Amino acid sequence: MHVIIHYAEIGTKGSNRPFFERKLAENIQHLAGISVERRFGRLVAEAKRTKKIEGALSSVPGIANFSFAESCKSDVKAMEKKLAGAAKRMKFRTFRITASRSDKSFPMNSMELNRKLAGVIWKMKKKVDLEEPEAEFFVEVGKERTFIYTEKIPGTGGVPVGTAGKAVCLISGGIDSPVSAFRMMKRGCRIVFVHFYTQKDGKKIADIVKVLKKFQGRSKIYFIPFRDAQNEIIVLVPDRYRMILYRRMMLRIAEEILERERAKAFVTGDSLSQVASQTMHNLRCIYTASTYPVLAPLIGMDKQEIVDEAKRIGTYEASIRKYHDCCAFMVAKHPETRASLADVEDIEKKIDIDSLVSRALKRKEVVKV
Ligand code: ATP
Ligand code: MG
Repeated sequence: MHVIIHYAEIGTKGSNRPFFERKLAENIQHLAGISVERRFGRLVAEAKRTKKIEGALSSVPGIANFSFAESCKSDVKAMEKKLAGAAKRMKFRTFRITASRSDKSFPMNSMELNRKLAGVIWKMKKKVDLEEPEAEFFVEVGKERTFIYTEKIPGTGGVPVGTAGKAVCLISGGIDSPVSAFRMMKRGCRIVFVHFYTQKDGKKIADIVKVLKKFQGRSKIYFIPFRDAQNEIIVLVPDRYRMILYRRMMLRIAEEILERERAKAFVTGDSLSQVASQTMHNLRCIYTASTYPVLAPLIGMDKQEIVDEAKRIGTYEASIRKYHDCCAFMVAKHPETRASLADVEDIEKKIDIDSLVSRALKRKEVVKV
């Protein structure tokens, strides 16, 4: 059997197209274990239809849809025979034929071919319905071979992981940050994860990242102890500012990892107004701790929308497991929601930031999943 893979946005990428196609082919090889060939604006592979391959292909970013196809020689008689065979195996009353030609030298155009091929199925007492057919027969005519299939399985869309460079995702163990990582993978980022803890539960974070592996493959998590930074902040910073200071400290520590990994941006699960640390004032105070861009793809999403997406991509279950959230520690009941950057910088003068950053980094651990 053949697999025909149609890609999402690659078609619009102009002279960069071979680069996008090559990346997608590599990712498919890695995640679905099949080698694909580039042919006429799509990818083609030989493979059996298995749950594993189907699952992998529906996750890999960059695929719009894919189909398992039969093939025959590119002549009308052979096509008719294949179509009749396929139609016999299916239950339907109405149908349409959707032919397309990658080989324009074929003697009929697509319309003519549609009409001609519809004849065989029409003879089986089925009716043509172009608008809402119960069965659709796709016929892709190539120079020597023609592919025939009846089902387009939806892919994840987006662009292939790796085409947009690398980014560091601050992953908390909550519901939001894994979804933000998925969103950026789908836009072509390879994601490296950084997690700060006071009480380490490496398994929970690793389990979340294992789910995300289906989108980008092998992944790396940096675990960084945060207790020292936290203790110092608790002593020196009024409680309503602590959350902001924690998060500024996280960015500074993670910046070293970003540079070591040659990443170009951070990714966070922030969503505007969701909690006190995510007001516009506070996000400004947090994000200016680093000069690198902070991408927050969930910024305009509602909590319920994020939860639905977490369930859809499969991270929700692992995210709701009990966990000791280091950010929640000793934070005010009524935190500042309109922090001023000047105040925050003033408070920070009391903290020996460089020493905290280097101490935390010395004790980092890297886990590959
Ligand atoms: P999440 O569901 O992702 O935990 P949240 O709604 O609980 O988000 P916060 O706890 O304020 O919000 O965290 C906001 C963002 O800060 C997270 O999405 C994540 O990117 C980052 N972050 C928070 N805590 C940590 C942590 N312990 N390690 C790494 N990043 C963190
Ligand atoms: Mg959280």
